[in-house]
Amino acid sequence: MIKMRLARLRRLLAKHKLDGLLVSLPANRRYLSGFTPADGQLGESSGCLLVTPRDALLLTDFRYQLTAQEQATYYEVRIYRQGLAQELAGLARQLGIKRLGFEGEALLVEQHQRLAAALTEVELEPTRGLVAGLRVKKDPEELRQITASLALMERVLDQVLDEDLVGMSERQLALKLVRAVEDQGGEGPAFPPIVASGPNGAEPHAEPGERVIQAGEPVIFDVGAQVGGYLSDISRTVVAGGLERAGEQFRQVYAVARRAQLKALQGIRPGMTGGEADALAREVIAEAGFGTRFGHSLGHGVGLYTHEAPSLGPNSQEVLRPGMVFTIEPGIYLPGWGGVRLEQMVVLEPTGCRLLNGLDRFYDL
Ligand code: ZN
Repeated sequence: MIKMRLARLRRLLAKHKLDGLLVSLPANRRYLSGFTPADGQLGESSGCLLVTPRDALLLTDFRYQLTAQEQATYYEVRIYRQGLAQELAGLARQLGIKRLGFEGEALLVEQHQRLAAALTEVELEPTRGLVAGLRVKKDPEELRQITASLALMERVLDQVLDEDLVGMSERQLALKLVRAVEDQGGEGPAFPPIVASGPNGAEPHAEPGERVIQAGEPVIFDVGAQVGGYLSDISRTVVAGGLERAGEQFRQVYAVARRAQLKALQGIRPGMTGGEADALAREVIAEAGFGTRFGHSLGHGVGLYTHEAPSLGPNSQEVLRPGMVFTIEPGIYLPGWGGVRLEQMVVLEPTGCRLLNGLDRFYDL
């Protein structure tokens, strides 16, 4: 698998006339090498890859030496002692690198300055989305991990939704979700879970707080797990205490969001742009009079990151292709009242979307 990925990257190097690419984005590093450590805080790195037409090196420091040798078996592991810039300067001379690409979306200005100061005879060329472009279509092994991650998350969410939510705080539920993901074999949550009750649901990315859930309120759950490095992302909106306690507003808003979702699920085809896919759902919501209350994109790719290519947003020109995995998550948010978001994950096939979710948990309104 790694060998094939490297071969694809090398074709891109030739196309962009690069003598090498420095890969520092953690997901790209992992995808191309199998090296799993995360980076620490901003500006810290557990290492980077240097890929040339002939060579594949993993440059890291003493802390990761054993892991690197064990995981990145296609790579020659180099331990830098005076920092990456000095190591690279020596390697560029040794390997004859004149034009070196780096990931413009991953390098801090300060890191770039350090590289430029050390690599005086090398042309440093920013690239954008090179490896992300390789990652956008999922191979069977990736699809297996994503499906496993989603299945685990759904099992956990299903159990939590079986409980009586009334009287629990958002934070209690969020902690419960995180703990259950780990107890049931996940590596952890894909992102901090969102549990947004009542009026808090009007903020799409609300942080769970001490608010205690009341009967009859809508509660948005947006959760994900990590399995084998791959993530899942799912949202459901439920009424605390059961649908029979829901008001008219909820029924109306929910029905529109669900209709929009089904329209997109059934209508998206390979060859459409992300913008065209987004419009399928957006039109339904706009026609119902909630156009301005759906302020985010319809969906996004999911893989080693929760949010990656492709984007299914109003301005997206990205063409959707078979093998891509993305979410379909229309939402409607009413300040002072709350919100509804319904999120499914699909893999695009030649004939359309194949649903990856098994959990239903939708109201039929
Ligand atoms: Zn999402």
